[in-house]
Amino acid sequence: ERIVSPETELDEAQLEASIRPRVLDEYLGQHPVREQMKIYIEAAKRRGEAMDHVLIFGPPGLGKTTLSHVIANELGVNLRQTSGPVIERAGDLAALLTNLQPHDVLFVDEIHRLSPVVEEILYPAMEDYQIDIMIGEGPAARSIKLDLPPFTLIGATTRAGLLTSPLRDRFGIVQRLEFYSPAELTQIVRRSAKILGIACDAEGAAEIAKRSRGTPRIANRLLRRARDFAQVKADGVITLEVANLAMLMVKVDAEGFDELDRRLLKTMIDNFDGGPVGVESLAAAISEDRGTIEDVLEPYLIQQGFLVRTARGRMVTPKAWRHLGLKPKVPGEDLF
Ligand code: ADP
Repeated sequence: ERIVSPETELDEAQLEASIRPRVLDEYLGQHPVREQMKIYIEAAKRRGEAMDHVLIFGPPGLGKTTLSHVIANELGVNLRQTSGPVIERAGDLAALLTNLQPHDVLFVDEIHRLSPVVEEILYPAMEDYQIDIMIGEGPAARSIKLDLPPFTLIGATTRAGLLTSPLRDRFGIVQRLEFYSPAELTQIVRRSAKILGIACDAEGAAEIAKRSRGTPRIANRLLRRARDFAQVKADGVITLEVANLAMLMVKVDAEGFDELDRRLLKTMIDNFDGGPVGVESLAAAISEDRGTIEDVLEPYLIQQGFLVRTARGRMVTPKAWRHLGLKPKVPGEDLF
């Protein structure tokens, strides 16, 4: 398992639950999203209506699930949680929807992975709070209409482009989460350290933040590794030195890259002369699937300027060569 994997590991689910912000004021960073959601929540409450459906997109670990729970909390309603691939049949979705209380939130993670049949059921549910379901089989089959309580669907996805446009169009509110700045992550680390009961000074927190790939889940995970290190190898306080040593132990470098990131960049340089290279060839070369490259690895590398996407494929930038201790290739150099 990657230490910088932005996906949840099993044993961390419980720890995450204790750290997870519950109200908007604890939800750090993401200012534009927070300010807008404050207004939409307040408006829905004043009108006594279900809030409009919300689509949240952004790379894993940026706080999509957390924001959904915060929204339900602030609305004072229940949240039911499911995910696209889990809803196999139309009946599964119908059961979920008919069991909602008025104004409840239904949170569907990985909403781009809903099957087309299930997606069809969702359209009238979102638009008119109604579903059509088929009862019986063969000539005796008939369709019945069921009324649903007014509800809010919150869908989460890693990339908006993965959604079909009819589904996307049915969300009144679309929010995009951005990578967090080091300052925001520092705040998150300090808040989590307090909850976990570990002393962490300002420099230690900043160092962990800097290496967290703009992602709160990774910041919290690195914090826990630094806590282990501080308690066993140091005097229990996460200082700059302790943070640096802990990061060395888990092989996360100064940019927050782990071995997989470095392998990706190195493969592009060694095997493809820095690119351009298509994502499929790259996936084959590093034995990872295309989705991992697109959702997990490259968004941060691109945002940090180590990688660019061109019409002909991915290319590394001189920054990537230098990061690996190599001299950047000058275009056309090999012609002479
Ligand atoms: P996603 O659903 O996008 O994969 P999560 O909502 O599960 O991400 O967030 C991962 C963890 O990061 C959460 O457990 C939470 O502790 C932390 N986190 C996420 N967003 C924030 C935030 N805005 N402020 C503080 N902590 C956050």
